[in-house]
Amino acid sequence: MKIHEYQAKSILAKYNVPVPRGEAASTVDEAGAIAKKLGGSVVVKAQIHAGGRGKGGGVKVAKDAADAVEVAKKILGMTLITHQTGPEGRLVQKLLVEETLPIDKELYLGIVLDRGTGKLIFMASAAGGMEIEEVASKTPEAILKEVIDPGIGLQPYQARKLAFGIGVPAVAVNAAASAMIALAKACVETDATLAEINPFITTKDNKVYALDAKINFDDNALFRHKDLAAFRDLNEEDPLEVEASKYGLNYIKLDGTIGCMVNGAGLAMGTMDIIQYAGGSAANFLDVGGGAQPEQIKNAFRILLSDSSVKAVLINIFGGILRCDTLATGVVAAARDLGIKVPIVIRMEGTNVEQGKKILLDSGFNFTIADGIKDAAEKVVAAAGGKK
Ligand code: ADP
Ligand code: MG
Repeated sequence: MKIHEYQAKSILAKYNVPVPRGEAASTVDEAGAIAKKLGGSVVVKAQIHAGGRGKGGGVKVAKDAADAVEVAKKILGMTLITHQTGPEGRLVQKLLVEETLPIDKELYLGIVLDRGTGKLIFMASAAGGMEIEEVASKTPEAILKEVIDPGIGLQPYQARKLAFGIGVPAVAVNAAASAMIALAKACVETDATLAEINPFITTKDNKVYALDAKINFDDNALFRHKDLAAFRDLNEEDPLEVEASKYGLNYIKLDGTIGCMVNGAGLAMGTMDIIQYAGGSAANFLDVGGGAQPEQIKNAFRILLSDSSVKAVLINIFGGILRCDTLATGVVAAARDLGIKVPIVIRMEGTNVEQGKKILLDSGFNFTIADGIKDAAEKVVAAAGGKK
């Protein structure tokens, strides 16, 4: 799960990572009132689940409260396009208004889960403010790393080594190290898979602050963080993905033309590969799960079909816990209720496959029943308009 910068900063503040004074606003008037309360110059920042906002025009300095109102008018409601939003951009529905700080250095701090070692890695770099991906690919030596031992957390000596290494002035090293240890603690305790402060700044008066904040959480651990659930912003998620999550379906929208309905994540990955191999491209990843019921099949179908880029559907099911006849019944019921207009290719194998095929053939619908997975991929690619 992703959250907004202002929400991430509220978590960091609880762990005593210094953050600028500021508040979130949903209207221009609110933004003006916050700016007035803060006094002096403020920074108005678009809150979307994507970075690169500064370059895209979503982060602007206002010299006073009146100016903040003008800036807020421009940013709120704009469609912000950054290198992370895709060409369609994101509608800005929330702002963060915070004090402007006198930046001396812009540094980078980040923690990611390294799945290879099963440990969190703390990264720090003097090259903050920029796109860290670019630093990582062109000058990887500019990123310092420390492995966080899960038993004892980030140790003070590691934090000081990083702080000195990225050029924090000696007078600010203790404050920087404390902030790093606090960040690591926040990351572990909230089950974050990524926490990034870019930039982490030193000011002209040798203070340190998290000027930006990004935290992603492990969805599988959210059940033990009920307080984090309130941070979910459905406006930032794909509506079809939100809909699918209501029915316990694992659905991810992709940009191809072939809708896929598959049971099991491994089979779903394999199906996407073979579609690609046959010259087509998947419009989604959809795992209906091992024990899907006809009702769930119907919901999955409805979600697939409400995606206008779907030109044909491939149903690839291995009948194990979900039996082929149950699937066929669900598909026929869905076809009847939803009025399916795109070609549907079905490949199934496993328990009750003969009964399943009979239900499909007797249904009166023009389903294409494929013979094996390769045949299915070729047929669905042809049905969707041929190879790319
Ligand atoms: P993004 O990473 O999405 O572009 P940031 O929050 O990192 O957004 O802001 C972009 C840049 O704007 C920062 O690198 C920093 O130079 C400046 N900035 C952001 N917040 C402040 C602030 N409170 N005071 C001064 N400068 C700021
Ligand atoms: Mg940033």
